[in-house]
Amino acid sequence: MTSLRKPETAARYEEYRKKREPDVCYLCRAASIKEFTYWRLLPNEYPYDRITKTHHLITLRRHADENALTVPEYNELYDIKLALRNDYDMLFENTLKNKSIREHYHIHAIEVADELP
Ligand SMILES: [Zn+2]
Repeated sequence: MTSLRKPETAARYEEYRKKREPDVCYLCRAASIKEFTYWRLLPNEYPYDRITKTHHLITLRRHADENALTVPEYNELYDIKLALRNDYDMLFENTLKNKSIREHYHIHAIEVADELP
């Protein structure tokens, strides 16, 4: 897949992936933009900046994959999606094919760039 990141961001991301320690999870460590009971809103340190002007991540507060989501967590996610629908252009998740952090469930929240490449 063509990178959705600008070359400099893609290069930073590749460096991060090479150096990443298996036990260190960005989604667990990043500072929150907003906190909910079961979820947090985070900045994406390696945004899809070729196509976005804002790229945040909605992530489960605990380190768990999608299969481990509980009903209260799902229910709150539904509420969050409704609450954020006017703040972003798109909410989406990557498939396993492209997911970099498979073991910690997260959803992408983006505002599309004013000009696309
Ligand atoms: Zn994590």
